[in-house]
Amino acid sequence: MDNKMFCYQCQETAKNIGCTQVGVCGKDSETANMQDLLIWVTKGLSQVTTKLRKEGKTVPIEVNHMVTFNLFSTITNANFDEQVFIQRILLVNETKKNLIKELTDKEGLSSAALYDEKDTTLFGKKAKEVGVLSEANEDVRSLKELITYGLKGVSAYSKHANVLIKDDGDLDEFIQSTLSALLEDKSVEELIALTLETGKYGVSGMALLDGANTSAYGNPEMTHVKLGVGTNPGILISGHDLRDLEMLLEQTQETGVDVYTHSEMLPAHYYPAFKKYPNFYGNYGNAWWMQKSEFASFNGPILMTTNCIVAPADSYKDRIFTTGATGYPGVTHIPGDIGDEKDFSEIINLAKKCPSPTELEKGEIVGGFAHNQVFALADKVVEAVKSGAVKRFIVMAGCDGRHKSRNYYTEFAKALPENTIILTAGCAKYKYIKLNLGDIGGIPRILDAGQCNDSYSLALIALKLKEVFELEDINDLPISYNIAWYEQKAVIVLLALLYLGVKNIHLGPTLPAFLSPNVVNVLVENFGIAGISTVEEDMKILVG
Ligand code: SF4
Repeated sequence: MDNKMFCYQCQETAKNIGCTQVGVCGKDSETANMQDLLIWVTKGLSQVTTKLRKEGKTVPIEVNHMVTFNLFSTITNANFDEQVFIQRILLVNETKKNLIKELTDKEGLSSAALYDEKDTTLFGKKAKEVGVLSEANEDVRSLKELITYGLKGVSAYSKHANVLIKDDGDLDEFIQSTLSALLEDKSVEELIALTLETGKYGVSGMALLDGANTSAYGNPEMTHVKLGVGTNPGILISGHDLRDLEMLLEQTQETGVDVYTHSEMLPAHYYPAFKKYPNFYGNYGNAWWMQKSEFASFNGPILMTTNCIVAPADSYKDRIFTTGATGYPGVTHIPGDIGDEKDFSEIINLAKKCPSPTELEKGEIVGGFAHNQVFALADKVVEAVKSGAVKRFIVMAGCDGRHKSRNYYTEFAKALPENTIILTAGCAKYKYIKLNLGDIGGIPRILDAGQCNDSYSLALIALKLKEVFELEDINDLPISYNIAWYEQKAVIVLLALLYLGVKNIHLGPTLPAFLSPNVVNVLVENFGIAGISTVEEDMKILVG
């Protein structure tokens, strides 16, 4: 059967090879192809901006935001709306045309930079010519896609910082010069170097977002988050955008409507600034892939602020909303650009007419162990390591997903000896955070730093421990890495860890399909990257 599309960017890709007819995520082939075309014209735009910078000319900040928005919107489960991508391609083409007029030297522009088709019926044919498989060499394709996915991940982080009016011009320049470089013929060696440099800017992107979040909302602190429900109607907010949450909380004051978090929005409870809102009730449910049943029983409206939406079930189709880079055909989208006050009144009015949420569970989650909180506990942690009460830390950050193979992470957490501590971030935590693993001398055995981008905190904690224990090499610490990946933000976290010199990372539940056998060999030989096997075998390797 001919390929209608080709996408292999996430862990759930068909047969761990590639989605060729329709995405396992539900993305149809037309939307997948428009995403490919959008990435290609965005590379063309980046070639123009890179040339402009070389000529000493200024690139408008709106163009930087356009590039990161485009990359972010093509992340897995971010946007399923073909029309959105068609409009973005037209917008990019128009922007390129205007910027090209400012270039003194127009020589050597690529077809991606010059593409200016207005007949949208021809987009599908063009997309087939420029998609992932247009690169014939398997290793070059593998590395170019690895870099592209890393750039998608760091663009998501950059976009979250941008909405808090924080930008990093060097990061934008790197994203664009690298996108431009991906249009050129490059050797495997050159692409490996560019992969590591992408990791370096991954650290910059996470630092940018960490600074933006903590300067706006304070440093995350140890917090007990309720899991039950109240009697008021509620709005469920999911995704990662803390600015959207802030606007929603402001607009729901004294309305009689409570606000609950779902999945990756849980760590918002850890920030001091959000604790002042009396209607910020607690966390409802689990990770993104559970949304079909959990959104149905929530009973009230749901706001998806970033990637993590799946095809809405009929039971809640008329009460789910998207905003930002997220979209789904037929779902109401709340508009608003960077710096705009979004109007959530439609969602709030709907909530008032809905019953309160159906209770799924009782209890609480304890989290908030980002770098500042862990540094405050540093003396206790160091003492526990020196006394032998804590033998090892296991970083189990990353993503959760649908596949049953991910139950490995629950079993792994359960099997860990009582003198080990899990360091986590991202929605991977839902596989074990409710297990009640207890504490070691008052230090919880699961330290949740926050969202996937808060993996930055885990890196800072490792670097701090290296300093305290006066070690030469970060790999001499009693820390093992057993990371679960799903989408492209996990790719930039992985590249960032490699850039920081972390070795012997175990990645599961499968290695990425986009890594060719030769690229896997490079990662194994230089970084000791490995997959997972059984809990028993991996326990021997990772815990000893
Ligand atoms: S994002 Fe993942 S599941 Fe969706 S089409 Fe791409 S590889 Fe397939």
